[in-house]
Amino acid sequence: MKLRSLISLCISIVVLAGVMAQIADAQNRTVLNEAQRISCDQFTVVTRTPNGASVYALKHPTAEMLTAIDRGLTGLFEVARKNRYRSRLNYRDYTIYIARADREKDSAGAYSPDIAVGAAQYTGTAYDKGGFIYAAGIVVALNPCAFMIAEHTKDFDRVADAVRYEGEHLVLYHNDRSRYSKTADHSNGGGHPILQ
Ligand SMILES: [Zn+2]
Repeated sequence: MKLRSLISLCISIVVLAGVMAQIADAQNRTVLNEAQRISCDQFTVVTRTPNGASVYALKHPTAEMLTAIDRGLTGLFEVARKNRYRSRLNYRDYTIYIARADREKDSAGAYSPDIAVGAAQYTGTAYDKGGFIYAAGIVVALNPCAFMIAEHTKDFDRVADAVRYEGEHLVLYHNDRSRYSKTADHSNGGGHPILQ
């Protein structure tokens, strides 16, 4: 399944998790600074999805983007409940940063808006594109729950999937710390979905 392999790569870097854990309960400003550092974007637009998730963006997101984010979170909460997880299953628990895509197409030419980030622990893996990798989504902070995806102008199902998959790491962090630790880093294999 191509979609799955494209989106399976997301980063919730263990190193980053350690740093962010030290600033648990960080002010939104700190998380915003981290998102801006990762993406080199300035998020000047703040809004909410129809269901209440916080969204930071470069320009006002389209209705399709916002409803796709809600759809991804809805799927996430459903599968989380199936796994008997209860913490952080509200739309308002989540902040999503919509960054400018650093590429629009993948190496096969398929539409694939992704964000380039430092390779870190993915250095030397198949994902490594020369010191950086392309990711469909990136966890920005564990507490409060925040992640980043790239702006899409079509294929909004890919947005919903990226949201659902990034959200898996956050749900696991708050509900099942050992499973979170085992699945946070994809550089040694393993992708998404994690929650079945
Ligand atoms: Zn992931």
